[in-house]
Amino acid sequence: MAKLRVAVHKFSSCDGCQMQLLNMEQDLLTLAERVEIANFIEASSTVLPGPYDVSFVEGSVSTHEERERIRRIRAESRLLIAIGACATSGGIQALRNWGRHEAFLHAVYATPETIDSLAQSTPFSEHVKVDAELYGCPPDPGQLKRVIADLLAGVPPWVPTEAVCLQ
Ligand code: SF4
Repeated sequence: MAKLRVAVHKFSSCDGCQMQLLNMEQDLLTLAERVEIANFIEASSTVLPGPYDVSFVEGSVSTHEERERIRRIRAESRLLIAIGACATSGGIQALRNWGRHEAFLHAVYATPETIDSLAQSTPFSEHVKVDAELYGCPPDPGQLKRVIADLLAGVPPWVPTEAVCLQ
């Protein structure tokens, strides 16, 4: 049986959602025979190019580079799953959406002209088609496991309607 080719991509984020995946260590080991982790920089320096069956995306779109990259990832992923509050709503970094972006840049950076930063931090769904969203900061591990199990079973991933906060 062909393995499910999975990628995990980081955007503007604290890495907490990726850590949640890594914390599922025992489950991931069990899945190892059925899943090929093709791209997961937090876990391995091996980065294989797409196409991917499933891409999990963490973080928000906050830079020009990220805006271009999510389009490329969408094009090379059969399913795109946004994980966490940053990915589904823009996250804490979206607080800047209600302020003056230029003023923030000058207040924080000595050379703001060198910073690649969009005026708004936005969820992936504002840029590309997203197949499923998992809420929470970070998402509940039980929800992640359920989605992965559905993908392996070849059925549409179950999508929770409630947010789960583990903090
Ligand atoms: Fe970190 Fe929370 Fe954003 Fe996940 S949703 S990357 S845990 S801030």
